[in-house]
Amino acid sequence: MLLDWLAAGLDPAKCVMFIQSHVPAHAELHLLLSMITPLGWLERVPTYKEQKENIKGKDLDTYGFLGYPVLQSADILIYKADCVPVGEDQVAHVELTREIARRFNGFYGGKREYIFPEPAALLTPAPRLPGTDGRKMSKSYGNAVMLTDPEPVVRQKLKTMVTDPARVRRTDPGNPDICPVGDLHKIFSGKETMAKVYEGCRSAGIGCIECKGWVADAVVKILEPMQERRKKYEDNPRLAWDILEAGSARARDIAGATMDEVRKAMGLDYGPNDSSKDEPAKDSTK
Ligand code: SF4
Repeated sequence: MLLDWLAAGLDPAKCVMFIQSHVPAHAELHLLLSMITPLGWLERVPTYKEQKENIKGKDLDTYGFLGYPVLQSADILIYKADCVPVGEDQVAHVELTREIARRFNGFYGGKREYIFPEPAALLTPAPRLPGTDGRKMSKSYGNAVMLTDPEPVVRQKLKTMVTDPARVRRTDPGNPDICPVGDLHKIFSGKETMAKVYEGCRSAGIGCIECKGWVADAVVKILEPMQERRKKYEDNPRLAWDILEAGSARARDIAGATMDEVRKAMGLDYGPNDSSKDEPAKDSTK
């Protein structure tokens, strides 16, 4: 995953990239937030139901699966994020994070203070990326074009992509606005190709295979430089591990400072060095 991020152009000088389990504070905040998160909030998260219906062959009847959005909230709140770049399907998770932050602040923040900012979802103009079967693109659904797919694989996958169901025959006109291939064009193709797609699809002047070929051209053009960049790290994995180690250390510092505030707010900051709580104040005149 890190190689994909670096390949896509994330710059370790600007982005802290780390291994979540190397920052144990995430697990601690998850635990504490789970104590104040009502069950109904989690059962209502749309992806919970959707994934239970769509993912077969895995036992999803666990607390871990239901409580996963609380861990995501901890992941966000521990860095006091103002914005979270997400896809459309994750907006509900950010909304849940806002509610958990509000509840925590209400319980523990005091009257005027707050511990956690309420983060906003940051969407791009293309907030939903369809997979080859028309559902959202997801590795778990087996409908994804991977950033590492070589050109022939990309072309083959996109060739089998579902289209506007109204276009049964080559002579039937279609509508790119309700076709998943049309959605990909909007994300990856330039204006000129878009004009050809709209004109050709609506007039049945082009075939779907031709149209999918154009979208494959655009996707391959984007993936090629990424795969080139990725090679540098594939050939020298130590570079990637160094980025993760440095990132994890930096993340631990930031997360640790937040957890100090959280424990203090919740009254969990007692210990041998905290004389104010456990022992009566010493009178220096005696
Ligand atoms: S021509 Fe393109 S946009 Fe139109 S239905 Fe076929 S694949 Fe979809």
